[in-house]
Amino acid sequence: ENGHEKIDYVFKVVVIGDSAVGKTQILSRFAKNEFCFDSKSTIGVEFQTRTVTINGKVIKAQIWDTAGQERYRAVTSAYYRGALGAMLVYDITKRQSFDHVARWVEELRAHADNSIVIMLIGNKADLVDLRAVPTEDAVEFAEDQGLFFSETSALNGENVESAFFQLLEEINRAV
Ligand code: GDP
Ligand code: MG
Repeated sequence: ENGHEKIDYVFKVVVIGDSAVGKTQILSRFAKNEFCFDSKSTIGVEFQTRTVTINGKVIKAQIWDTAGQERYRAVTSAYYRGALGAMLVYDITKRQSFDHVARWVEELRAHADNSIVIMLIGNKADLVDLRAVPTEDAVEFAEDQGLFFSETSALNGENVESAFFQLLEEINRAV
């Protein structure tokens, strides 16, 4: 899309959160509309891009993926440098991945720009029978911390597009 248009802005967005919550699949869903059933853990891809038009501006979203460095404090500050937005992902079926969200927010506050826009994402919303994190818990945390929030499924695509667009619109509002 927009192959011949000029780019008005490049927005760097980082995707963070515990291992196996679906970060790479959310990114593939948004960038390529793909879900890869036999994906191994991330193999060295640094970022993917997708160009979208928001309020008449052509915006290239450059979305960075952690390359298996999700251990606490293993993501380096270079990863966060220049990031205008963050997708902070947990797995609605894994309570621990939600309990760790506060740590990831601390990481962002320590390493990213103060004005970074943060979207909390509860992924794997298709696995309704395995839910371990009530939506209300996440809503409360997000309101408390001033984060945007959405539940998504990279598997069936639910809310992935709208979550990225909301984040990009919010960044665009500030530039
Ligand atoms: P990452 O380590 O956070 O990058 O996680 P991956 O994107 O590699 O996904 C980890 C596992 O969760 C893989 O087996 C994916 O197929 C699976 N997965 C990712 N997103 C979803 C989702 O929305 N629904 C379901 N059911 N499985 C998912
Ligand atoms: Mg990954």
